[in-house]
Amino acid sequence: MAALAAPLDAERIALAAAAGRVAAEDARSAVDLPPFDRSAMDGYAVRAADTGAPMRIVGEVAAGDVWSRAIGAGEAVGITTGAALPPGADAILRVEDATVEGDALRAAAPVEPGFHVRYAGEDVARGDVLSAAGSPITLQAVMGLASAGVGEVAVVRRPVVGVMATGTELLEVGAPPEPGRIHESNRLTLELLARRAGAEVVVHPVVPDARDATRAAIEQGLGSDVLLITGGVSVGPHDHVKPALEAAGVQEIFWRVRLKPGKPLWFGRRDRTLVFGLPGNPLSTVACFMLFVEPALRRLQGEPDAAPAFVPARLAVPARAADGRTTLLTSRLERDADGLLVATPTEHQGSHLTGALAASDGFAVVDSALPAGARVDALLL
Ligand code: AMP
Ligand code: MG
Repeated sequence: MAALAAPLDAERIALAAAAGRVAAEDARSAVDLPPFDRSAMDGYAVRAADTGAPMRIVGEVAAGDVWSRAIGAGEAVGITTGAALPPGADAILRVEDATVEGDALRAAAPVEPGFHVRYAGEDVARGDVLSAAGSPITLQAVMGLASAGVGEVAVVRRPVVGVMATGTELLEVGAPPEPGRIHESNRLTLELLARRAGAEVVVHPVVPDARDATRAAIEQGLGSDVLLITGGVSVGPHDHVKPALEAAGVQEIFWRVRLKPGKPLWFGRRDRTLVFGLPGNPLSTVACFMLFVEPALRRLQGEPDAAPAFVPARLAVPARAADGRTTLLTSRLERDADGLLVATPTEHQGSHLTGALAASDGFAVVDSALPAGARVDALLL
């Protein structure tokens, strides 16, 4: 699956929008930092060797100005924080350490060469990599790049994710209840989770359980980089998704995983479009998204090793995997006195229990029968 989720093409975007995006190329400094030798203090630019005797103030250079004439023996130039050091000067005498009478300047004590000077390139050299290709651009890298004269960066394009739900029983979010029908939540869930994973989302209308409608809808959805379809991937008489995908030329890569909830997961592709058929039960959809879809979306965005975002936790109570499958238990995940996550599974577990999901912080992943205190992977929502 990983090999099919190769990074998408690159685009150039403004630095202001770059935080969290994956760099498609190394982002390098356009300048030396500092760009020139500059003063760290308000005071006087001096020749350190001359500071044991009275000096003469010959002018002033403020931040943003340039003093281009070299200062001579015994000369000093008033300087503000951030101003470029005049040629010939090699130290700053701070205002606090100076006495001035007319144009005569005295140092309270001689200063050493380099005092309060910020040297060109001491932080970053022009061409240094501030954000490496293949890694998310951090907020601090954005700060560094802004200082480094960079206004645009090349990032991997966001995947366009189509979200589709099948089921004649499905009502729109917020619609009045109707007999025999249930409110649909999977499209909203997937929209939010996919956006959080960096995707651009196209939400498609609900597809009734009918062969032709399913085929037509799938053909529409295949225009995206990734198509997520929920429901209808099992073997019931009204499950039309698999045959419709086959008819559309989507090649099956796998069907069914050893996972609870989420067993009927289907994965395939047509050309560069990846297609996930997610089981309709809401918790199955969330579990399959976090374990399979999210890593794929992050790989498409250029993170080569993206994997499920497991965090370590301990079980508060014994827990066991159900029928030999990796089992995701909706759990409260709280920090103990040492700051470690402790997972307490919700009282009821089931792929349809959206109330339990709402009351949880995420999932504890259990592979076998485990005692209280056992180390588990957790997935935070
Ligand atoms: P299916 O995978 O189509 O067999 O659906 C399994 C269960 O999930 C059924 O009880 C459906 O009513 C329910 N379901 C299917 N799609 C959704 C959805 N989009 N939102 C909420 N529940 C759904
Ligand atoms: Mg269905």
